[in-house]
Amino acid sequence: MSQNTYNTIIVGGGIAGLTAAAYLSRARQKVLLIEKNKEFGGLVNSFTRDGFHFDAGVRPLEDAGIIFPMLKDLNIQLEVVKSTVSMGVENEIINIESIDSLVQYRELLIKLFPESENEINKVLKIIRKIMKHMDVLYGIENPVFKDLKRERAFIFKKLLPWLPKFIFTVGKINRMNIPVEDYLKTIVKNPSLRDMIAQHFFKNTPAFFALGYFCLYLNYFYPKGGVGKLSEALKNKTLEFGTDLLAETKIIEVIPDKNLVIDQKNIRYHYDNLIWSADLKTFYKIVNTEGLAPKIKSKFEQTKIKMLQNRGTDSVFSLFLEVNEPLQSFRKIAHGHFFYTPSKNGLGETHRGELNYLLSNFEKVEKEQILTWLDKFTKLNTYEISIPGLNDPELVPHGKSSIIISLLAEYDLFKKIQKAGWLDEFVSELENRILRVISDSIYPMLKNKIITYFSLSPLSIENRIGSSEGSIVGWEFQKSMPVVNKIQFSDYSVLTPISSIYQAGQWAYSPAGVPMSILTGKLAAGKILKKWKK
Ligand SMILES: Cc1cc2nc3c(=O)[nH]c(=O)nc-3n(C[C@H](O)[C@H](O)[C@H](O)COP(=O)(O)OP(=O)(O)OC[C@H]3O[C@@H](n4cnc5c(N)ncnc54)[C@H](O)[C@@H]3O)c2cc1C
Repeated sequence: MSQNTYNTIIVGGGIAGLTAAAYLSRARQKVLLIEKNKEFGGLVNSFTRDGFHFDAGVRPLEDAGIIFPMLKDLNIQLEVVKSTVSMGVENEIINIESIDSLVQYRELLIKLFPESENEINKVLKIIRKIMKHMDVLYGIENPVFKDLKRERAFIFKKLLPWLPKFIFTVGKINRMNIPVEDYLKTIVKNPSLRDMIAQHFFKNTPAFFALGYFCLYLNYFYPKGGVGKLSEALKNKTLEFGTDLLAETKIIEVIPDKNLVIDQKNIRYHYDNLIWSADLKTFYKIVNTEGLAPKIKSKFEQTKIKMLQNRGTDSVFSLFLEVNEPLQSFRKIAHGHFFYTPSKNGLGETHRGELNYLLSNFEKVEKEQILTWLDKFTKLNTYEISIPGLNDPELVPHGKSSIIISLLAEYDLFKKIQKAGWLDEFVSELENRILRVISDSIYPMLKNKIITYFSLSPLSIENRIGSSEGSIVGWEFQKSMPVVNKIQFSDYSVLTPISSIYQAGQWAYSPAGVPMSILTGKLAAGKILKKWKK
């Protein structure tokens, strides 16, 4: 069975696919956006349960000179509030409200590690320097979202003076493109202190990216009504521009020489151009290369090897709580986005050497050993806690609160335990330990106040989003990245070895996240429109 031809078909209705669809259909292309789930938005998604609001993926957002310019360019109104970040270790908590909060951050670290004052001063000096670089990097609205033919003032007053600073900054950034763990080792001797600074980042996060986060925290915002409002607004825009949206449709084969994609019901969809804005390993596995010209086929196969050799970043385990306790009780302690570490000891080797040992000897280790490890893992970890009602009180029933507690989690552990047949038990053990640690430390009022709770594991993310290894931001940070990882080359990130197929989203560029997913969606659309207009 076959359906009519589209100028562009986009596979993956996350934020990248929605962005690409909006731009292409605004330019009057005939566009079909295909999404395997019932709802669009991918990892930018919210849901309500029993009247309590939750964000299933990303919580506060960071503009990065991309989100607001995109919204403005597409004429999308999105009501947002500032989302202040709090950070806490044991009983010490600070709120990150301005650049001056760095002084409090320094004091917090010195209180915990008085013997390391000099090293802390050095780290703070570096963070300040990086913040200046970040100000340059995100200092202007990304020109990709500007109509440069019409906005002459922007070119002469902003873009041209910014370019030399940008080039200088890119050089500096690239020099700090080494894993933050290794970078910190050259400055800080105490491993616990290093953990307090960086253990909530993905493995091998580039030093520049990790230490620049302080700058990003200052600009976090939250859409009123929840993060999903961003996807909803973009989806409505695509509809207004005439995009055909097809939900609950999973693409299972791509035949590039015939320009068609095939779904799970064997329905065929013809395209002139295709944007793949979902998991890239899946894409490379399902492309049928038989009819491709030998040169293209060979390039495609080489790229495929690189893609399949690499992994997604760490995944996340999230616990969702409906709580019979008013927002005020939580507001007294911290803001709606809170990084909290109950013990200053730090994870050390718990999530690295010790976990690797358990994984490589999985057949031999006893369940009890894994649970003992889980005790340490939950006591020493850093939690990312979100309370949506603190950003928008209308998101919860009066006098009650919803809370999301997350920690980075290793996909392979969940997968092996699932194969061994005790995943439900493990998830329940993990949930109980998180609840115990959090209610014994920062939120004692949780005891007896939880109405109900449920969780999402790396395997749930893999199932729902189709994301390799349950990754939440694309590729693991490795020396040999299978995609573009330098900002000055971002324009090439959307190209694939097949000229009619483009890639977009968190797998197309590294490091990724919501802003880069939006940017690559726009870049892919731009390339197609340029070709089309010719
Ligand atoms: C807990 C959490 C916290 C995060 N925190 C941050 C943060 O602080 N800052 C930040 O910038 N980012 C953060 N992120 C990451 C960010 O949400 C993602 O990087 C971004 O949303 C990815 O968008 P995307 O469109 O590239 O991909 P996705 O959102 O993964 O969308 C891909 C879509 O493709 C669909 N799909 C997959 N396979 C197929 C197929 N075969 N056929 C049809 N459809 C298919 C999926 O269902 C999905 O809807 C976080 C994510 C999570 C989960």
